[in-house]
Amino acid sequence: MPVPTDFRFAGDRMEEDCGVFGVYDAEGSLHVGEAAYFGLYSLQHRGQESAGIAVTDGSGIRYVRNKGLVPEVFDQETIQALTGRIAIGHVRYSTFGVSDAINAQPLVARYKHGNLALAHNGNLINAPALRSKLEDYGAIFQTTVDTEVILNLIARLSSDGLEEAIHKMMKSVRGSYALVMMTETQLIGIRDPFGIRPLALGRIGEDSYVLASESCAFDAVGAEFVRDVHPGEIVIIDENGLRSIQMPVTCRSKLCVFEFVYFARTDSMIDGVGVYAARKAAGMRLAAHDDVSADMVIAVPDSAVPAAIGYAEKSGIPYGEGLAKNRYVGRTFIQPEQGMREIGVRTKLNALTKNVKGKRIVMVDDSIVRGTTSRKIVDMLRLAGAREVHMRVSSPIVMHPCFFGIDTPSEEELLGSHRTCEQMREYIGADSLKFLSLHDLLKTVEGSGCGFCSGCFDGDYPMPLSESESCDLAIE
Ligand code: AMP
Repeated sequence: MPVPTDFRFAGDRMEEDCGVFGVYDAEGSLHVGEAAYFGLYSLQHRGQESAGIAVTDGSGIRYVRNKGLVPEVFDQETIQALTGRIAIGHVRYSTFGVSDAINAQPLVARYKHGNLALAHNGNLINAPALRSKLEDYGAIFQTTVDTEVILNLIARLSSDGLEEAIHKMMKSVRGSYALVMMTETQLIGIRDPFGIRPLALGRIGEDSYVLASESCAFDAVGAEFVRDVHPGEIVIIDENGLRSIQMPVTCRSKLCVFEFVYFARTDSMIDGVGVYAARKAAGMRLAAHDDVSADMVIAVPDSAVPAAIGYAEKSGIPYGEGLAKNRYVGRTFIQPEQGMREIGVRTKLNALTKNVKGKRIVMVDDSIVRGTTSRKIVDMLRLAGAREVHMRVSSPIVMHPCFFGIDTPSEEELLGSHRTCEQMREYIGADSLKFLSLHDLLKTVEGSGCGFCSGCFDGDYPMPLSESESCDLAIE
């Protein structure tokens, strides 16, 4: 599908892979700043560029946000000062281009009816069009993130109250959004009509609620999982308890299947499917269609470990460790330059020579994006004396960029977009290379009952990309 001009890189960048968290303390027994801190800490894998927490005690909103990891942005003293009845938080992913503290979230604004804070995971494909139209009306933007378009729309459309403004905003924006929002009295969770990005609801005690991108954050703060927020649903939590408003949804949901492949944490449940189980099942299905003879199955740590275990179990080839990981290095994509990215791989992973020497290795990874990681690792394993390296990937070939919230590079940079499997094998230098089929990947998440976006694999996006030009603003 052709990408509309001025779409992908409008502003400094469009991609937003993030984690959101919210907590409403109904019983006055929680330290909401602390809960948000631990919630965000457990969502750190969803974003390492910046972090922020906003709190309210019913009068005004205070916030702390900055570039850096959660424990770098907040120290003990800062956390202790973040008291109140409601808190929301955000971690933002590092992609490429300008990374600026001004783009850190939650965004906080004062509008006609009081104060508002907003944290967003996802990507609005028509943000540039809406933003330009809003600017024609005189709007001034302080950041380059699409989230500010949401904030601006809500403020402008709020003459009939906040709920009405949210409805109108949802009619105007196109793309993916899992939002947590806070006024001085309410915690609000919103999931886009396709449910592209996850958002779950949890409870602490009888009446205190939490919202989070992934259920692993509930375990971190001692909350119990209640349910996922439905696609197109708005949940409002305030002194009257929890209320749900369901926006009309015209088609099947489209949860991002890449959450299961790579992005989410293994101990999370998303829309009824356990991430660990899905990854392990992917490895088993990979092995079911394979007949390679090998001495050991290894994983590219950490995200491919469940798939490698599944592969080993199904194939009968013993599982072992072939790569040591420096646990203090973040995700390799952080470095924007290719040269740095390659050094990054070497800093992050190293071969365990004693384990791999003289062996025929099946190396399982969850995905090949640019191919930088795979090529380097295959090389490392060979240098360490591996006799054969057979690469197995527990997802299909990533052929298309994501416009809905996962950071994938442009089509030209995707190894799989313009190469056959054999050409990819040659590039990464493996003895053989196989991918999981899309059919098999979707089987691993079948239990959820929802639909999936597999756009990065097959180009079938939840909505036509021409929607990026949609600019229908209900401004009176
Ligand atoms: P590459 O070297 O570009 O092929 O990167 C593939 C590796 O990066 C795999 O080991 C994945 O675990 C990981 N990966 C996949 N998608 C992403 C993403 N969107 N952001 C960061 N890392 C990713």
